Amino acid sequence: MQADLDKILFDRDRIARRVSELAREISRDLDELPQDGEIVLVSILTGSIIFVADLIRQLPQKLRIELITVNSYPGRSTRSQGATLVGTAVENVAGKHVLIVDDILDSGGTLRLIQAELASRNPRSIRTCVLLRKQRPSAFEIPCEYVGFDIPDIFVVGYGLDYNNYYRNLPDIGTLRPEVMLPDAPPGGPP
Ligand code: 5GP
Ligand code: MG
Repeated sequence: MQADLDKILFDRDRIARRVSELAREISRDLDELPQDGEIVLVSILTGSIIFVADLIRQLPQKLRIELITVNSYPGRSTRSQGATLVGTAVENVAGKHVLIVDDILDSGGTLRLIQAELASRNPRSIRTCVLLRKQRPSAFEIPCEYVGFDIPDIFVVGYGLDYNNYYRNLPDIGTLRPEVMLPDAPPGGPP
């Protein structure tokens, strides 16, 4: 699996150091929030699982975890906005301080949808944290208080990020060798 990587962008030690810095920053900010609302951390599945697992163990605050899946094709419908949210997070944010955590901010479509939906449920506050942000103009339009690393507009895997649902368990983040991404080559096979 490791051999399928072309270049490593961030190895596990660098990621761990940055996650600790982010946790310290988030933790400081959470302590400054008015103490009149619970903290709810909303993890965007599936890509954020590793990042969230590492991050939350460095947040000493009392908080709840909610999970959201973005379903791009709800049922058989082909609705114009193309995506809906699945999970109980949406119902459980009213009056709470919400921290959205995702793996990567790319076009911004996912976070735009999630922020709008959660904001419409009257939370006390909303903040967003991503491990990676791609250098795309639309990504910078999304309010995001915590960013681990800014990266070029390239496709990366590892540390939760997948290709065809593989490679999430790689401890480092990197690019794939082009030949493993061919449609007729492993690991994906034909779509
Ligand atoms: P957006 O809606 O911002 O375009 O994309 C966000 C989602 O697309 C991310 O949560 C992630 O699941 C997926 N994604 C975007 N860029 C990459 C990438 O470079 N690698 C992987 N593995 N997933 C990506
Ligand atoms: Mg995702």
